[in-house]
Amino acid sequence: MKVLVVEDELKVGEYLKQGLTEAGFIVDLTRNGLDGYHKAMTERFDLIVLDVMLPDVDGWHILQSLREATLKVPVLMLTARDSIDDRVKGLELGADDYLVKPFAFAELLARVRSLVRRGSVSETQTTLTVADLELDLMRRRVTRAGRRISLTAKEFALLELLIRHLDEVLPRSLIASQVWDMNFDSNTNVIDVAIRRLRAKIDDHFDIKLIHTVRGMGYVLEAPP
Ligand code: CA
Repeated sequence: MKVLVVEDELKVGEYLKQGLTEAGFIVDLTRNGLDGYHKAMTERFDLIVLDVMLPDVDGWHILQSLREATLKVPVLMLTARDSIDDRVKGLELGADDYLVKPFAFAELLARVRSLVRRGSVSETQTTLTVADLELDLMRRRVTRAGRRISLTAKEFALLELLIRHLDEVLPRSLIASQVWDMNFDSNTNVIDVAIRRLRAKIDDHFDIKLIHTVRGMGYVLEAPP
């Protein structure tokens, strides 16, 4: 599940990013309105957390433009002001929920989960399946041949990425940017180590291997014929 956070306050942004990442989301953080708008229009997200007070274009304008472009992604607005007017305005412009700063992270996470669940019922799948491997995106649960497999948040995000790109070879640079949100540095083996751990959990005890290395290119998760 991919979340776009548009928040100019450095501390709040990093705090949200860290918390949501730990909760198993893939988080893209941007600090101004135009970048946020551009990302929302060009990439696929399951949810947008949108701050109202931004240095360039405010959150209301971004929300309005997204809805005018008929983008249906759920939007959770963040604002410092707790006025009924703001709430009404946000909902009229097409916000799905509204949170007043300062808020407890647990509260935000509960809203995020609820919105993602709501959005995913109608628009996207909540379970991804390849052969006997099953990923329950809502419950963050993985099973293979009915056996429960315990993954870390990063391993889960990595597996989700591989499944969403079934039969496509994913270069390390793409995996690095999507799962670790970092530019790929060929001196690091963080991705290879993570893949090895993931394989140990989902492939090692099974005859049919799903994750494959494509030498010099990257990794692919293949559906068995
Ligand atoms: Ca702000």
